[in-house]
Amino acid sequence: MKQSVSSMAVQHGLERSDNGRLQTLWLEFDQPCNLACSYCFANGGSKLGDEACLTRNDYVSILNQAQQLGVDSIGIPGCGEPLLPCNQEFTIWFLHECAARNIYVTLFSTGEFITLELAAKLYELPVELMIKGNSLDPEKQDRFVSDPSRSRNIRGYGKARNRAIEILMAVGFTDESRSIAEFGRKSRMALVTSVMTGKDGGPSNYDEVGDILRYCRNRNIIFDCDTVLERGRGATCGMSLQDELQKTKMVELQTIDREEYCNSWPITRSYAGTTCDRFKHHLYIQKFGSIHPCIGSINVVLGYVQTTMLQDAFDNPLMQIIRARCYGGVCGTTCANFSDGICNSCLGRSTVNLNNAFLEKEGYVDTAGCWNFRKNSK
Ligand code: SF4
Ligand code: SF4
Repeated sequence: MKQSVSSMAVQHGLERSDNGRLQTLWLEFDQPCNLACSYCFANGGSKLGDEACLTRNDYVSILNQAQQLGVDSIGIPGCGEPLLPCNQEFTIWFLHECAARNIYVTLFSTGEFITLELAAKLYELPVELMIKGNSLDPEKQDRFVSDPSRSRNIRGYGKARNRAIEILMAVGFTDESRSIAEFGRKSRMALVTSVMTGKDGGPSNYDEVGDILRYCRNRNIIFDCDTVLERGRGATCGMSLQDELQKTKMVELQTIDREEYCNSWPITRSYAGTTCDRFKHHLYIQKFGSIHPCIGSINVVLGYVQTTMLQDAFDNPLMQIIRARCYGGVCGTTCANFSDGICNSCLGRSTVNLNNAFLEKEGYVDTAGCWNFRKNSK
């Protein structure tokens, strides 16, 4: 299996060189979730609609095309909990289908249902586990996955998640030498969070996220940290930080990582520690089959897997605008971070009017910039 070992552990589907080809996919599953995170991009835990979702045959067709095109990385973004007992059969089936095609999977999970037996089974498969990690404190973690406005008060999740972290480490997911030898990866487990502060006394990890970074670095756990994606409940949860607070926190994380762990990275709009480069190698498929540039650009529809081949979606003229980095507005025309290649803007966080009609008419991605703007000298 072709892999790269980054000096600092990041998700498998990031830090790709541009070979002009589709390299990574994210796929949604049609699965329920037992939690009620108020920031969930997928409205997880809510009643599903009547729209027909992808079938097992559709997933096989996607995987066959992916293999043929050389895709080596698939992310399952936590649209539902893939390891909920009623979802496990499908998820394990899918992981085996990926393994048979030499495709590595980035599986987002709450971790709640991970037992020693399940962890041992997962360890043998080419998968990295992206475990929810909003807070290390079990009670506070429970508040992050509850939604009192919908009378959903979750108890006991944080403890179960902490137990899962211990199990995964014991099984070897964070064992650097084994991960490198067996899978070509520095680490195979992440803690995933956005930096968030709830309104009106809601949960906040603003003061804790530096310690979550340390917890990860001290244990060879991937630190997968960003800001709230304002999609689904994330658009209305009110947990996004004001610009100045976001900037202050990212500078703090950058300083901790540099001074305590010798990791140097520039601040960008997407992840702490790296910039998202999916604009050039990626497609996102919703559980209904619609194909999009990424999780944050759902109003750009490149086709439907039931009728559109992945290569055709990737070569769609609208996707070619994105792949060619034809960006206007603040990021595209005036930000030095963009022109220097340090930040690739963010389709889900820094764009304006990102939809088919605008791209067809104007031929570029319009952008609004962000708190990390650095004026271009030209
Ligand atoms: S461009 Fe932004 S929203 Fe899209 S995948 Fe990258 S970080 Fe996520
Ligand atoms: S203004 Fe745009 S390109 Fe510049 S740092 Fe912010 S998101 Fe990145």
